[in-house]
Amino acid sequence: LPEIAFAGRSNVGKSSFINSMLNRNNLARTSGKPGKTRTINFYIINDEFRFVDLPGYGYAQVSKAEKDKWGKIIEEYLITRKNLKEIVLIVDIRHEPTSQDLIMYQWIRSYGFTGYVIATKVDKISKANWQKNIKIIRNKLDIKDTNLIIPYSASKKINVEYVWDGFTSILGIEKDQ
Ligand code: GDP
Repeated sequence: LPEIAFAGRSNVGKSSFINSMLNRNNLARTSGKPGKTRTINFYIINDEFRFVDLPGYGYAQVSKAEKDKWGKIIEEYLITRKNLKEIVLIVDIRHEPTSQDLIMYQWIRSYGFTGYVIATKVDKISKANWQKNIKIIRNKLDIKDTNLIIPYSASKKINVEYVWDGFTSILGIEKDQ
């Protein structure tokens, strides 16, 4: 099955993003506790495609050994997935991406993926600040095409349809959600 993977710092809102896209409440476990998801979670949707939830990174209280393990898990995943169509980076629109976000993003690009970025929690800032914050993200991640950064809100369901349009074409599936 074709699949799209999601990467992001822990607690960025990745689970909420996946749940909101799928209109579920608890398919992907959300929690206030960062650093919880340690394995890759696969969600098979309608026997048609997969969403892949990569373990969140950047949790401060994680040992070097665990960080190395994280890298191994992801690398192993990447080299074995033939049907991986995109890896989408999730960031928090309120904050400048971290250096780990940058590493992750450069890594995604180096594997030949487009480099879509979901800037989530957009409901937490005023609309007047959207462009300003998107520009900060764009500069930090060195993104040429600003359209690659998509403002999003899981709680207010902002841009759910827009992102689905992109995903259905990436996955090569019919839209019926
Ligand atoms: P994950 O660790 O990246 O999977 O993050 P979660 O999805 O568990 O979200 C972390 C916290 O951010 C939770 O308290 C969520 O309720 C909150 N959150 C996630 N997405 C949004 C959003 O779009 N808007 C707002 N206001 N809060 C969000």
